[in-house]
Amino acid sequence: MQQWTDKQQELRDGYTEVFQAWGADHLRRDREAEFAGELWPEIGATGLFGLPFGTEYGGGGHDLPTTMHVLEGLGRHCRDGGLGFSISTQLVSTGVPVHRFGSEELKHRLLPRVIDGSVICAHAITEPHGGSDAAAMQTTAERADDDHYVLNGRKFFITNGPVADVVLVYARTSPGTGPLGISVFAVEKGTPGFEAGPPVDKMGLRTSPLGNLTFTDCVVPAANMVGRRGKGFLLLDYVMKWEVLLSFAISLGAMEHRLEQSVEYAKTRKQFGAPIASCQLIAEKIVQMKMDLETTRNWFYDTAKRFEAGEDVMVDVAMAKVLASEANVRSATNAVQIFGGRGYLSEFGIEKELRDATGGTIYSGTSEVQRDKVARMLGVR
Ligand SMILES: Cc1cc2nc3c(=O)[nH]c(=O)nc-3n(C[C@H](O)[C@H](O)[C@H](O)COP(=O)(O)OP(=O)(O)OC[C@H]3O[C@@H](n4cnc5c(N)ncnc54)[C@H](O)[C@@H]3O)c2cc1C
Repeated sequence: MQQWTDKQQELRDGYTEVFQAWGADHLRRDREAEFAGELWPEIGATGLFGLPFGTEYGGGGHDLPTTMHVLEGLGRHCRDGGLGFSISTQLVSTGVPVHRFGSEELKHRLLPRVIDGSVICAHAITEPHGGSDAAAMQTTAERADDDHYVLNGRKFFITNGPVADVVLVYARTSPGTGPLGISVFAVEKGTPGFEAGPPVDKMGLRTSPLGNLTFTDCVVPAANMVGRRGKGFLLLDYVMKWEVLLSFAISLGAMEHRLEQSVEYAKTRKQFGAPIASCQLIAEKIVQMKMDLETTRNWFYDTAKRFEAGEDVMVDVAMAKVLASEANVRSATNAVQIFGGRGYLSEFGIEKELRDATGGTIYSGTSEVQRDKVARMLGVR
């Protein structure tokens, strides 16, 4: 089991009040699919967007497990799941790749704005014809002259896309198909030829805006390339590990909150003259929620430590992603069942947790694609 130092715990506890405040209006926001973008500078001022980044750029300089521990607190105390998802997208879409692979000039130009929340960030990989098969992407970035590239293509399902000030766009710089020849560019809102569509309506994470982007003869400075030309897929592989570890750290916190709510409800709700917790079938659901939470948590922090130590954790992250996303759905389903009819009503916020959790089996690589990675590692595919 993970042990935290006093300093790490103080860091996390210091956020509890603001986490609660940011989620205070979550039921209305969910109903109206409203993104709390006005909070961005306030969130930036707390240091949350900069936790794992270098202090020279305004970041906190914390390690990955510490960052995850704080984000787990976000999931535990902030009931706005969509907001949490947009926050983790801010860190992983742009902060992580620019910090790890960006030129020093780009880091100094971009990271302070990512960290202080003066820009909202997104990353654009998925296309109409390239979802799970991201390497089938068709968006192109052709060299116009020594200093510029021209982007053309469409991107679908982009979290924060409708409101993003900076988007990291994955595009093909060499003809052909497959993972080779993909490069990554930071594109700023207002660049001629870059258009963001409106938010699309969706099942869960409704407070996190998601939409489509179009690039039409969009001229981008070569200095905005993140990492090396043609190495975008390696960069994506690194970013996806962070995305899984950070976004599902938030889910861990949500699972813990749900477990506490379910225990409390099962102990106080009486039917047939006794608390429903005394029914073995209800207790079994609660025990399953606890085992799902602890198994996932142990796996996550272990994987994060080994990732940070430079070990190859590709398959561990794939398994972690399946474990976490499916445990989250199971935990939310169990909570709905324990709360009975109240679990099904919107006003209690329990059904929203199930809608929010469902997306987790799709984004950052579907459950099927992650299982496929494990099958290949085992040599059965
Ligand atoms: C909430 C949410 C947020 C998202 N945010 C972003 C974002 O910020 N940026 C971005 O670029 N994208 C984003 N996406 C897109 C996401 O990455 C894709 O939806 C995902 O990769 C799946 O692609 P697809 O939807 O095209 O489904 P498809 O790839 O068409 O898959 C359809 C079904 O076929 C299965 N399948 C496909 N290939 C295989 C295979 N080889 N073996 C077995 N089964 C297979 C899939 O598992 C799935 O069940 C987001 C999606 C969601 C739901």
